[in-house]
Amino acid sequence: MAVHTPSLHTGTMRIIGAEEQHVAHNYHPLPVVISRGEGAWVTDVEGKRYLDLLSAYSALNFGHRHPAIVAAAREQLDRLTLTSRAYHNDRLGTFAAALAKLCGKDLVLPMNTGAEAVETGIKVARAWGYRVKGITPDAATIVVANGNFHGRTTTIVGFSDDPQAHDDFGPYAPGFVSVAFGDAAAIEAAITPETAAVLIEPIQGEAGVVIPPEGYLREVREICTRHNVLFIADEIQSGLGRVGETFACDREDVVPDVYLLGKALGGGILPLSAVVANADVLGVIRPGEHGSTFGGNPLAVAVGERVVEMLSTGEFQRRAAALGEHLEARLDELVGHGVTEVRVAGLWAGIDIDPSVGTGREVAERMLTRGVLVKDTHGQTIRIAPPLVVRATELDWAIEQLKYVLEG
Ligand SMILES: *Cc1c(COP(=O)(O)O)cnc(C)c1O
Repeated sequence: MAVHTPSLHTGTMRIIGAEEQHVAHNYHPLPVVISRGEGAWVTDVEGKRYLDLLSAYSALNFGHRHPAIVAAAREQLDRLTLTSRAYHNDRLGTFAAALAKLCGKDLVLPMNTGAEAVETGIKVARAWGYRVKGITPDAATIVVANGNFHGRTTTIVGFSDDPQAHDDFGPYAPGFVSVAFGDAAAIEAAITPETAAVLIEPIQGEAGVVIPPEGYLREVREICTRHNVLFIADEIQSGLGRVGETFACDREDVVPDVYLLGKALGGGILPLSAVVANADVLGVIRPGEHGSTFGGNPLAVAVGERVVEMLSTGEFQRRAAALGEHLEARLDELVGHGVTEVRVAGLWAGIDIDPSVGTGREVAERMLTRGVLVKDTHGQTIRIAPPLVVRATELDWAIEQLKYVLEG
């Protein structure tokens, strides 16, 4: 496989320049311009190939343009794409039935982006709190975890403790209490009679693949049941095969009251998110109280139904588990050699880079020159989330490149 030089081609420079001139600077992309993708690989405008170890933050769990997902989208494109929910369409019901079954729940509320699923979860929890639990009007609280990432909307960034996500976007919505992640006792201590829900990521992705201590999710489940509080699991990044199970909650055989799903649900083709829960919870939402023009559109749910079908065999989950073990063994060897710590769950890893080697961004830029795409998070961490279709030999090759980069 080719080794790339870091010098930028003039064509690439021109495209990046135009983007920088006309696209708001809310991201700091790696200096590579992708024009094609297939499976775990992408090709840039100069024809160089790269192994994509980020997978659009797990939105590409099935790789780029998985043939079965593209086929479902093509078929639907030729029939019907959008109706709004003013009418029924002939795809939404079958998608919802399949997704509800995958989750072991009754009802699905379809939205588009992950942040919308989180916002929907918050609304459902509050409505449930007032209408079912009997919380004093406008007094409901939701317990969240430090280090959380649940999206970029104004309500959500209000309870983020990441200054970049949070600062200068106030005033912030009240009603959220944040406690240490991984500490179930802290959650219980924060619960009052006005608490409607506990909202956590079972594994914190954006924070750097932070895995809570074994038993945490089970304890959170018990605490929520004991205090009549909804357990909302944000599985937008951790769910749908990534950790070697359908959901990260499955690692502890825990079933939350509410699943928040997104990213990979859209098959790497379009945004599709969902809130999934039983009728005693999600049933509180009445006509006219919540919605989305694009939520549940036939094109998105045709893709989503194919994704659910693919997950129903367990093949991708087994693959993620097996490849994850392989990845973990290889990454463990790097600790003490430019790496201070690795955290692995299925085919998902956070790699803390020794500051003497460089920053996470610098390592990502050097990996780019070696033909591997990875993304830094929070300064010193590299996050790896390869498409679940990646091969063991490709992972080995990528780790060779990482070793090379770390030896600098
Ligand atoms: C990405 C992500 C979101 C937000 O999803 P968007 O589609 O970017 O709005 C929410 N929660 C978690 C855990 C995520 O990883």
